[in-house]
Amino acid sequence: MSDRDAGYEITDEFEPFSQKYDVFRRSFWDERVRSPKSERFYRTYRETLDQWRRADGFTQRDYALRNASWHVSDLFTEYKEDEDRREGFNDAFTLQRDVAPERVEFDTPAEASSEIKRVARGFGADLVGVTELDPRWLYTEKFSDLSGTARPNDIPEDLGSVIVTAQAMDYELIRTVPSALSGAATGLGYSHDALVVLSLAQYIRNLGYRAIASMNDSALAIPLALQAGLGEYSRLGLLITKEFGPRVRLGKVFTDLPLATDRPIRFGVKEFCEGCGRCAEACPVGAIPSGEPSTERYNESNLKGVRKWSVDGEACFGYWAAQNSDCAICMRVWPYNKDYEKWWARAGRRLAGTRLRGFMLWLDGKLGFGDRVRPRDWWARVTPS
Ligand code: SF4
Repeated sequence: MSDRDAGYEITDEFEPFSQKYDVFRRSFWDERVRSPKSERFYRTYRETLDQWRRADGFTQRDYALRNASWHVSDLFTEYKEDEDRREGFNDAFTLQRDVAPERVEFDTPAEASSEIKRVARGFGADLVGVTELDPRWLYTEKFSDLSGTARPNDIPEDLGSVIVTAQAMDYELIRTVPSALSGAATGLGYSHDALVVLSLAQYIRNLGYRAIASMNDSALAIPLALQAGLGEYSRLGLLITKEFGPRVRLGKVFTDLPLATDRPIRFGVKEFCEGCGRCAEACPVGAIPSGEPSTERYNESNLKGVRKWSVDGEACFGYWAAQNSDCAICMRVWPYNKDYEKWWARAGRRLAGTRLRGFMLWLDGKLGFGDRVRPRDWWARVTPS
């Protein structure tokens, strides 16, 4: 498998990434990202809910739902804060029972992969793929938001397989972006993700193999997901899956269980992005590039030495902070953001992978896909009188 198969090109300038420069980590220590607005942004996830903003989509009820959706993920993240650990975001999960002393043997890695995928789906994973551990994507060091210190990444490189999972984010909630309400799709994604990766890692440990469950800590998820065949890379800097478009959250399990790996997939996303720019036009702060993939970096939150579409994380996070909630306008307007239970959505996706993609894009706009649904209309639908 070449990097081009996975949708990017590595140049001689390439350097592995330190988590310290992730824009969220920078929002704790770098004055170019940290501000009174960013501090207030984080407080909205924890404090009294009726004071932040009085607008449709930002009421106490909207924040109540968003913050409740994060609750399970928060419990895992916060339970070891007194040990300077935030598991799932700064550190891999440790809430696991010991590895069983006896091993269950598989006839082949393919058999093991097939079983692991069935189990992952049984635990609720919406998508699952396997790739080799590629050390280029491991963080060179982790960063603690609590103590403001960088420290070694402790994922052992002899855990040679990575199982990558994806949790779908709720389509109807994402249609209400920008709103605090839509942030419930993000929180639910992480809470489900924590359940899936912790359970899957424990299952593998119960079989007698080492396994570490991880979310945003430890490694860059998107290149691993591309290598594991979960989707294609896109202009908005996200993974595009066939099943849910860009609406996924990614998790990973590192293991020494020998597994057969998957291959990158292509279904026309790159070609589609080359002729479209809807996400770049819709971004309120111009954080998404409108040109060709390049090695240019907006700032140190971008990877060095990778030719691809890169997003300006500083501008993006600045908008989140100003909004008092995460934004996903680019996700909402993206033409592959559809409910693929519907036959016409599947037909549109097929068209998007052909030379008629321009027609699909035109029709998509004419029919108003990607338009915002008012949060109060979402509430009226889920809580009918
Ligand atoms: S999340 Fe919002 S601010 Fe960030 S790139 Fe997408 S549209 Fe722009």
